[in-house]
Amino acid sequence: MIVVMKRSATKDMVQQMVKRVESMGLKAHVLVGTERTVIAAIGTKRDGAVEVLSSYEEVEKVVPILAPYKVASREAKPEPTMVRARDLMFGCGSIGIVAGPCSVESEEQIMQAAQAVKECGAKGLRGGAFKPRTSPYSFQGMKEEGLKLLAAAREVTGLAVVTEVMTPQHVDLVCQYADVLQIGARNMQNYHLLQAVGETKKPVLLKRGPAATIDEFLLAAEYVLDQGNSQVVLCERGIRTFETHTRFTLPLATVPYLHERTHLPVVVDPSHGTGVASLIPSMAAASIAVGCDGLLIEVHPDPHAALSDGDQSITPATFAKIMEECRKVATALGRTL
Ligand code: PEP
Ligand code: MN
Repeated sequence: MIVVMKRSATKDMVQQMVKRVESMGLKAHVLVGTERTVIAAIGTKRDGAVEVLSSYEEVEKVVPILAPYKVASREAKPEPTMVRARDLMFGCGSIGIVAGPCSVESEEQIMQAAQAVKECGAKGLRGGAFKPRTSPYSFQGMKEEGLKLLAAAREVTGLAVVTEVMTPQHVDLVCQYADVLQIGARNMQNYHLLQAVGETKKPVLLKRGPAATIDEFLLAAEYVLDQGNSQVVLCERGIRTFETHTRFTLPLATVPYLHERTHLPVVVDPSHGTGVASLIPSMAAASIAVGCDGLLIEVHPDPHAALSDGDQSITPATFAKIMEECRKVATALGRTL
């Protein structure tokens, strides 16, 4: 249930209410909005809890949260959430652009990619150091060496580093180098990993599992939020269908639908969503048109030489054109990029 505090409620009153909620055996999540503060009280509520909590002067009302995901829901927090890492901002009108190679491959490759995407206006640098590959024989990533190269690229460009963490054992290590922790599609339902990143203070970019429903996706986000980390960005990266022309099927209705259900920012990854470099400019522009809060795009200085996802990697020149087009779409809709 949500305990909606009156506008006049002070911080002290909110803290007192948190204690009362906790004394009922419930977990309290304080969600501070521009209008008012609410406390999401999670757990099996005792008989009479609603009556007791609503009897306080500083409480406006106590209402149930109907959605299965609680802290992630719009019911709990009607205003959108902004997630920020350095100059990279997602949500509340900001469109965060993250670009870079699928994998970090060498110092020269990541530096070239970082400088090119920065010049075009990206605020985040992507690049996998730990790579979840379908085949154990494929390139698995440069691991800590790759993380070091990402940090070096950040040093030069100021871009926020977005990189994947694949296992709870690596969370501390990846946190030393990353600004945003990416949870890959294959790990969307790795609940121990979700809890481990939920215990950090780093923003989390959670990718939708290719076979996950939207409710499952939001419940995965709830695992992170439930640990007290409110900085979660949802990423639509395509789902598996009967279609074989594209690597996955990219359902853009996910963006406005998620915006109705959750306050969390929603970004789109047209690279994995299509798997085809030539389709990425159109799908990036379309994602902006449906109101996404950011884009995740694979850009490689030399896509033919890429050690992973070369077919869907675009050149810096194409990325520059995408940014130009996306800016026009954003401007037409009264947003800036
Ligand atoms: C990636 O971003 O390179 C990646 C592995 O993506 P996904 O988890 O969506 O497959
Ligand atoms: Mn990739």
